[in-house]
Amino acid sequence: MNQMMKPEKTKSPVYATFPGFSGLGCCIALPWNRRSLLFFAIVLVTALPLEARQTDPRTWTKTSSSTSVLLPPEYRPPEPQTRVFQKGEFKLTLYSRKFATGDMVYAEIEPVLAPGQKMSEELKRKLGLNQLKYNGLQVKLVERPWGLRGLFAIYPHQKENGWLGWTYPLKQKSATGEETGFESTRLQVHITKFPVYTSELKLGKYSNVQTYEKPGVAERIKRERELKNKAFASREDNYIKDKLAHPRDLHKITSPFYVTRVTYRYEIKNGKKIKHPPKRYVHKGLDLRGWVGHPVFAMAPGKVVLSRELFFEGGFVLLDHGNGIKSGYMHLSELKAKEGQIVEAGDLIAKAGATGMVTAAHLHLSIWVNGYPVDPLSLLSLPVRY
Ligand SMILES: [Zn+2]
Repeated sequence: MNQMMKPEKTKSPVYATFPGFSGLGCCIALPWNRRSLLFFAIVLVTALPLEARQTDPRTWTKTSSSTSVLLPPEYRPPEPQTRVFQKGEFKLTLYSRKFATGDMVYAEIEPVLAPGQKMSEELKRKLGLNQLKYNGLQVKLVERPWGLRGLFAIYPHQKENGWLGWTYPLKQKSATGEETGFESTRLQVHITKFPVYTSELKLGKYSNVQTYEKPGVAERIKRERELKNKAFASREDNYIKDKLAHPRDLHKITSPFYVTRVTYRYEIKNGKKIKHPPKRYVHKGLDLRGWVGHPVFAMAPGKVVLSRELFFEGGFVLLDHGNGIKSGYMHLSELKAKEGQIVEAGDLIAKAGATGMVTAAHLHLSIWVNGYPVDPLSLLSLPVRY
């Protein structure tokens, strides 16, 4: 979790208005003839509304018969792929953006009902016997009137297909009195080739190894690590409903999920810069375009478990959505969400910024499923049903 943003050569067309403003400065210095007035008017008309995005451009979009996602105009989540399994009277459906490493998976377990048939008390009791495991880890299943639902991660570091374990209710008790059977299947996954960037990332004072020797810095880092550990240990039950949201009112990825990067490191000795070996790290989140003061929104309903200014993360908001899911927003210039507060999908929780270990202003976004990082955008493809 940290920083990183590749120095940008191109700006998103929507915000390609800042060069317009420097042009405006030149314009003012020149004598006002009709041509420059016309130029001024054009710059004003094209630049002002886009730069500020005074009106919220996001719209609620139906992504499935039960799910709505609040999205900026530049982004539509890809439709998920599905995998269906059936055992006895129950059906297990898995949904994922690509069933690729780093993707989230949404699971639903429902009784197979004839048209017009309602779930009987017996089926309801049997529903509770279902259990799901992915690579040996229990998936938290939440009971709804129509069935069970759960979410899990295809780990980004996974190198082969996963193991799906399904404990399902038998139609009839076995001769030995068993009520359930167990089916273990290989879940075919696409192995994502995450990018590797070799150019060294300069991180200002964070690249100077002596920064960490300064009085109080080590203590601050330790104190904040304890704070984060406490926040990450939060285990809320179930906040995710049927609404999700993009965290920004503009979509532009500035650094991809799980890219391997190297940081430039040095120290100053006798007034000279001595280079240290670069450090490799994996970017366990996604960087999105966001200038200082631009709004940041909650991706799903949840409880604010951390909202503070930290040494590495800068302004940091951590939400616990229950169901084993947490989302984190970093480098914020302003914190709107208060610790302990409950937020809904799409609520304003902070303003983007350039605080902590960054090269420029942006929003760093992370989602963890049972502690494993996933590509945060993979959440927006899931047809979550309440
Ligand atoms: Zn980042």
